Amino acid sequence: MKILHNVSLLPFNTFKMNVKAKECRIIEDENELLKIDTLSQNSLVLGGGSNVLFTKDYDGIILKNELKGREIIDESEEEILLNIKGGENWHSVVMWAVENNWNGIENLALIPGTMGAAPIQNIGAYGVEIKDVLEYVRFYHFDTKSFETIKNQDCQFAYRDSIFKRSLKNKVFITDVGLRLRKKNHQYKLDYGNIREELDKRNIQTIRPKLIAEVVMHIRQTKLPDPNVVGNAGSFFKNPEVSEEVYWRLKEKFPNIVAYSIGNNKYKLAAGWMIEYCGFKGYVHKGAAVHTRQALVLINQKNATGKDILELANIIIDKVNQVFGVILEPEVNIIG
Ligand SMILES: Cc1cc2nc3c(=O)[nH]c(=O)nc-3n(C[C@H](O)[C@H](O)[C@H](O)COP(=O)(O)OP(=O)(O)OC[C@H]3O[C@@H](n4cnc5c(N)ncnc54)[C@H](O)[C@@H]3O)c2cc1C
Repeated sequence: MKILHNVSLLPFNTFKMNVKAKECRIIEDENELLKIDTLSQNSLVLGGGSNVLFTKDYDGIILKNELKGREIIDESEEEILLNIKGGENWHSVVMWAVENNWNGIENLALIPGTMGAAPIQNIGAYGVEIKDVLEYVRFYHFDTKSFETIKNQDCQFAYRDSIFKRSLKNKVFITDVGLRLRKKNHQYKLDYGNIREELDKRNIQTIRPKLIAEVVMHIRQTKLPDPNVVGNAGSFFKNPEVSEEVYWRLKEKFPNIVAYSIGNNKYKLAAGWMIEYCGFKGYVHKGAAVHTRQALVLINQKNATGKDILELANIIIDKVNQVFGVILEPEVNIIG
C-alpha cells in the first residue's frame, strides 16, 4: 500500500480545495484493507472527490480507492452481468457499456467519480438512477473485518440516498459493484431534459445507447461547468421533497414554481428554480459563486476556501427558507 504523508488534496477533489491530509493511503489491492483497524472519525474513503467539500486540512487518514478491474460474470442473449471494481472511473464504465451496445446506463454519461461511490448517493440523471441496473454491492466492513455483499433490495435506495449514507456510513469501503445491463428490448428513457429534442435535431432513426450517451454529454457540457476548468461538485443541494399540501400552498403563491409529483402525496421541488427566484444566479461571495447557467451548482470562482463555499451555501439556505419556508439540504458531503 502506498502511503503519502502531509499530502495536498488539490488533485483529489473537484472543488479544487487546496487542503492537506495528514496521511493518504492508496488502496490498489483489497487485501490491504485487512491491515486497517477501523474507520474512525479520523478516516475517510475517497473516490474521485467529486461529491465532497473539504472545509479545512484533513487531520486524519484518507483511503483513496484505486481498485481496478471489470469482468463479465454472466451473459445471455438478453442481459449481461458485470462486476466492476470500486476504483474504476464511472464515465469510462458508461463508455465501455455503450460501445458494446449494453443498455441501461447511457443516461448517466459524464457523471464524474468512481464506481464505488455511485451507489452511495444512488447517482441519477435524466430519469435513470444507478439502482435501476445495480445487482449487488460488495464491501469491506471495518467492524466485522470481512467482505460482505448486499443485494439491490437491501441497499435502501432512494433519491440521492442509500444505506451507505445511513447505517453503513463510515463503516465500509465499497470494493465492487454488480451491474445488470440489457442487450435487447431495452426501454430507453428519452423524455427527460432535452434528450428527445436533441435526438430529433440530429435526425436519429435507430436509437443506440452510444447515441443517447453522446446527446447526454452534449446537454451536460452546455449546462454544467467542467470541474477541470472551474472547481465544483455538481448540484450542491438536493431537490427538497414536500407534502402535497405544502406544494399547493407554494403553487398558489408562486404559480411558476417548478415541481413534479413523486407519488405518495409528495412533490419534489426544483431547488435550482427557487435559488434563481431568490436572485442568486451568478451571485458572488468571496471566492465562491453561484453558477451563471445552473443555480444549483456552487463554484470555486477564485481561490475560494471551503469556508467561503459553506458561507455561500448558508446564505442561500437562509434566503430560500425565508421566501419559501423550505430548508435546502446539501447533496455534497461536507468534510470538516
Ligand atoms: C460536474 C459534476 C456533475 C455531477 N453530476 C451528477 C449527477 O448528474 N448526478 C449525481 O447523482 N451526481 C452528480 N455529481 C456528483 C458526483 O459525481 C457523484 O456523487 C459521484 O458518485 C461521486 O463519486 P466520487 O468517486 O467522486 O465520490 P467522492 O466524492 O470521492 O466521495 C463521495 C462520498 O462517498 C464516500 N465514498 C467514496 N467512495 C467510497 C467507497 N468506495 N466506499 C465507501 N465510501 C465511499 C466518500 O467518503 C464521500 O462521503 C456531479 C459532480 C460534478 C463535479
